[in-house]
Amino acid sequence: RVRGIEMASKDCVKVAVRVRPFNKRERDAGSRCVISMTSNNISIQDPRNPQNSRTFTFNCTYWSHSGFSRNKDGLFVPEEAGGRYADQTSVFLDLGQGILDNALQGYNATLLAYGQTGSGKSYSMVGYGPNKGLIPTLCERLFQSIRSMQDSRQCQVVDLLSKSNRSAGGLRVREDQQRGFYVEGLRRVPCDSAVQVEQLMEQGTRTRTTAATHMNANSSRSHMLIIVQLKQIFSKECITKQSNIFLVDLAGSERQRSSGSEADRLKEGTAINLSLTTLGNVISALADMALGKKVVHIPYRDSVLTKLLQSALGGNSRTVMIATLSPADICYEESLSTLRYAERAK
Ligand code: ADP
Repeated sequence: RVRGIEMASKDCVKVAVRVRPFNKRERDAGSRCVISMTSNNISIQDPRNPQNSRTFTFNCTYWSHSGFSRNKDGLFVPEEAGGRYADQTSVFLDLGQGILDNALQGYNATLLAYGQTGSGKSYSMVGYGPNKGLIPTLCERLFQSIRSMQDSRQCQVVDLLSKSNRSAGGLRVREDQQRGFYVEGLRRVPCDSAVQVEQLMEQGTRTRTTAATHMNANSSRSHMLIIVQLKQIFSKECITKQSNIFLVDLAGSERQRSSGSEADRLKEGTAINLSLTTLGNVISALADMALGKKVVHIPYRDSVLTKLLQSALGGNSRTVMIATLSPADICYEESLSTLRYAERAK
């Protein structure tokens, strides 16, 4: 048991950076690549002042497996820019597998994607078409593990899905001694296959989009939390283990724009910025703690997001953050700010 805890705290926070391929807009604009990598170091160059480059170190750094090519002037060549190419499967093996193992041992875990809108958060977390992201792969492997268990464990996975986003004021976050913070009235759906989880996720994503439209907002301005609740019952030993895996597709990290009034924009922007800032503060405090530094206070209570994630951040929980960015010069400011945010967390 003690060994488990030591292992859990040693890599309790893991931060990865993933650079997506150029998109059409960037290619059409003849954008240059401002990112380079050597092993786990990633450098970003100021396009207006190429002497000015900054280097960050993370647990993992990745180029994307496809989609890089030279533009007509042969300007962007990530193939020669060091680092490692990773497809969805290798990203899962690096980042998702540990979370799953941890959950099967009965510990909580959080997996987050942070980055500018359009930088690849959903691609990494959910995936598109056959390129399945971390969440569906994790669910598939979870059910594979469950099915391959030879002993008397009975496993039940419960997916929590809120369907009441449209009620006035939304759902309430409450706190109680035993459960910590929780969302009142959240719907939990028992699942017994990865396909079922995937369908619920699709439904959740649709609700997220509809709710956003309804509020005259953009879904990239909301966080999506998927909570997989895993309960393992070892009937011979009369032991149960319960763990929550929080899978979080965060709101876009760029400065928020809105079609609403100035006041709405400020209010919304402030709420999202506050939650992202608080999350950064919490993860950075936890990372300091893991390094043996003295930490007086972890500000979980400063935002709703961190309240809800409290049970799965810190302690024996494992946190993995994947920061996503564009390789292009036109996204330099946002990419630099994503790298700075991710650096604090590691
Ligand atoms: P976000 O969720 O951050 O707003 P998306 O995940 O929707 O961004 O990504 C924007 C576009 O870039 C999508 O069309 C997606 O398929 C593509 N993309 C993002 N990351 C990758 C990647 N690592 N490899 C290939 N395509 C990617």
